[in-house]
Amino acid sequence: MPQYDVIIIGGGMVGASLACALSGHGLRIALIEAIELETRSETGYDERAIALAYGTRRIFAGLQLWDELAADATPIHRIHVSDRGHFGMVHMDRAEEGLPALGYVVPARAIGRVLAEATKGIKELDSFCPATVTTVKRTAAAMEVELFHEGIRMTLSGRLVVAADGADSPVREQFGIKSSIIDYQQTAIVTNITPQLAHNHVAYERFTESGPLALLPMTEQRCAVVWTVTSSQVESIMALDDAGFVAALQARFGYRLGRLERVGRRQAWPLRLVQARETVRERLALVGNAVHTLHPIAGQGFNLGARDIAALAEVLVDAVNGGEDPGSLQVLQRYADWRQHDHRNVTVFTDGLVRLFSLPLPALDMARGAGMLALDLLPPAKRLLTRMTMGRTGRTPRLARGLPL
Ligand SMILES: Cc1cc2nc3c(=O)[nH]c(=O)nc-3n(C[C@H](O)[C@H](O)[C@H](O)COP(=O)(O)OP(=O)(O)OC[C@H]3O[C@@H](n4cnc5c(N)ncnc54)[C@H](O)[C@@H]3O)c2cc1C
Repeated sequence: MPQYDVIIIGGGMVGASLACALSGHGLRIALIEAIELETRSETGYDERAIALAYGTRRIFAGLQLWDELAADATPIHRIHVSDRGHFGMVHMDRAEEGLPALGYVVPARAIGRVLAEATKGIKELDSFCPATVTTVKRTAAAMEVELFHEGIRMTLSGRLVVAADGADSPVREQFGIKSSIIDYQQTAIVTNITPQLAHNHVAYERFTESGPLALLPMTEQRCAVVWTVTSSQVESIMALDDAGFVAALQARFGYRLGRLERVGRRQAWPLRLVQARETVRERLALVGNAVHTLHPIAGQGFNLGARDIAALAEVLVDAVNGGEDPGSLQVLQRYADWRQHDHRNVTVFTDGLVRLFSLPLPALDMARGAGMLALDLLPPAKRLLTRMTMGRTGRTPRLARGLPL
C-alpha cells in the first residue's frame, strides 16, 4: 500500500493550492481529484472570474505562482458599493490602503491551469486524476483511502487526510461531521459583458431588490457579472434571449458604464451557506468549501480557503520540523483554533450582507442607506471592512506575509 504523509482529497483551487504550499518540505503528498481539468475548465469569453483579495495575491506570491497568474489578473483600484434606488454609497480605494490594488480579478480557468502546471512539477507528489475516493477509514496509526483510478481500485495510506472536496464533502459526511446548511433560495447568474465605457479597474457591487449584482473588471475591457436573483426568478431570466437579458441587466445596473454590449454564455449557481461544525479530527482536516461554503456576495469563499491552506501548511511544516506527527489531533487543533475567528467573522459578515440586502423592508432600507453613508464617512470603520475583505485582519500566515514557509 503506497504510504503518504498527506493525502489531499479534492484538487479544486483549494486542494491544489495546498499541494503547492506543502511541496519542498520533505512530505510525500497524494492529490486525488475526480474530474480532469480540461472538463472542469470553461474557455473563452464565458469564463467565471474570481476576485482575489490582496492577501491571496501574497499567498500565491509565496507559492511562487503569482508571476504566472499576473498576466490574466486585472487589478481592482476602487470598489463602488451602492443600493439601487436609495441613498448611501461606499467607496473603497487602493490609495486609502497604500497598496497597488485592493484585489485582482482572475479567470477561474487561469487559476486552475497555473495550479495544474505547478502540481505536475512537484516530484514528491503523486497525482490521481481522474480518480474518485470511495471510502476513508481510520486505522490505529493511519488513514486508509480507497479510490478508483483509471478503473482500478487502489488503497493509499496516509498520516493525514485533508478534505478539500467541496461543499458536499463526501469525506465530511463519511466521518459524520455535522454541518449547518442554509439554502438562500437565491441563484447567482454568472456571465461576462463588454460595457461601452472603460471599467477603469472599478469593481461595482450594486444591491437591487432582486439581490446583489456585481460587475468586476476583467481583461480586454470585459466585466465579469455575478447577478444574484431569487430562485423563483432564475428560470425566466435564464430563458431570456441575449437582448432581453442585457436589457434586464442594464435596468438593474444603470448606465454607470454606458450601454452594456456583448454578453457571454450564462451559468446558474444555486447559493447556500454550509458550515461544518468541526474543522479537524484525529488525522483529518477540512479546508475550503468543505468547511465553509459562502454566498459570493462579497467574493470571499476562495480567499478564505486560501488563508486556510496557508495556515494549515504552516502548522504542518512547523510540526514536522519539530519532529511531531502531522496527523495528531494536537497539531491539527492548532490549525482549527487559528482559523476559527476568520471563519466566523467572514461568515457572519457575508451572511449578514445577504440578509440585510435581501429583505425589502422599508425600515431596513433606511438602515442600509444610513449604514452605508456612515461607513463611507467613518474612515476607521471603512478601513476595518476593507482590511477584512482583503484578508488583512487577525494573525496572518507566513505565506500571506510574503515569507517562505
Ligand atoms: C458564482 C460564484 C462566484 C464566486 N466568486 C468568488 C470570488 O470572486 N472570490 C472568491 O474568493 N470566491 C468566490 N467564489 C467561491 C469559490 O468559487 C469557492 O470558494 C472555491 O471554488 C472553493 O474551492 P474548493 O477547492 O474548496 O472546492 P471545489 O471547487 O468545490 O473543489 C472540490 C473538488 O473536490 C473534488 N471531489 C469531490 N469529491 C471527490 C471525491 N470523492 N474524490 C475525488 N475528488 C472529489 C471535486 O471534483 C472538486 O474539483 C464564488 C463562488 C460562486 C458560486
